[in-house]
Amino acid sequence: MTPSFDLSGRVALVTGANTGLGQAVAVGLAAAGADIVAVGRSAPTETGEAVTALGRRFTAVTADLGSIAPIPAIIEQAGPVDILVNNAGIIRRNDSLDFSEDDWDAVMDTNLKSAFFLAQAVARTWVAANRGGKIINICSMLSFQGGIRVPSYTASKSGLAGLTKLLACEWAGKGINVNGIAPGYFATNNTEALRADETRNRDILARIPAGRWGDPGDLSGAAVFLASDAAAYVHGTILPVDGGWLAR
Ligand code: NAP
Repeated sequence: MTPSFDLSGRVALVTGANTGLGQAVAVGLAAAGADIVAVGRSAPTETGEAVTALGRRFTAVTADLGSIAPIPAIIEQAGPVDILVNNAGIIRRNDSLDFSEDDWDAVMDTNLKSAFFLAQAVARTWVAANRGGKIINICSMLSFQGGIRVPSYTASKSGLAGLTKLLACEWAGKGINVNGIAPGYFATNNTEALRADETRNRDILARIPAGRWGDPGDLSGAAVFLASDAAAYVHGTILPVDGGWLAR
């Protein structure tokens, strides 16, 4: 049997799809046939144009995922979805000795708490409809490694990897595939400070076997795979897309 990566007729809800990796994932899923619901706080104009140019439907839902308050309204406005991509995320950098409670809570609430409660809300609709679906959590190299000066980010992304495995264990039997993608070092707003720091930029590049920062488009193949029927028996994995970083 030829595995199917075709997403025609599916609807994907992607958080933080206005820019960076979320935008590339949304456009990649649309290129594979999916209609897109973009959820976030900034207008996803560019993403909407790219998705509709591919002939797919595009819906924008405005929501600040710094809290879980908007989740019921998101579910209502999105309508039925087949795929959830928890991508929205933030990072705060400071020495752990000086790290503030605000920098801890903001990152944990956006990257971990909202991802869990959005997954719960979407999974409840699937279970109520007696059907399955696909959940993809955007993790990080810091789901596996410690990093430096980003304690809440590392805690949130390590937590998200653990949560991905727990949800896979609870929901695989319900036809829900929960998996993660761990991007390596990609050129987006999230890594602007690192790329601007000459020493960090040089050290990071020296460790990437592929010899370059990731381009957001490098992530979309993994997302299409995990969202597709080809991944029907893939549960609870965290797929690195990292130019070989973890292999080093
Ligand atoms: P980005 O360009 O900063 O994009 C982050 C996205 O999350 C934006 O759409 C942003 O919306 C959205 N977001 C942040 N806070 C939000 C909130 N409270 N409510 C709604 N949306 C919110 O960074 P990126 O690199 O594409 O990051 C996407 C994901 O990949 C994140 O989870 C990040 O941790 C992860 N990641 C990135 C890298 C990398 O190398 N770039 C590596 C590993 C993991 P606004 O534009 O409105 O802020």
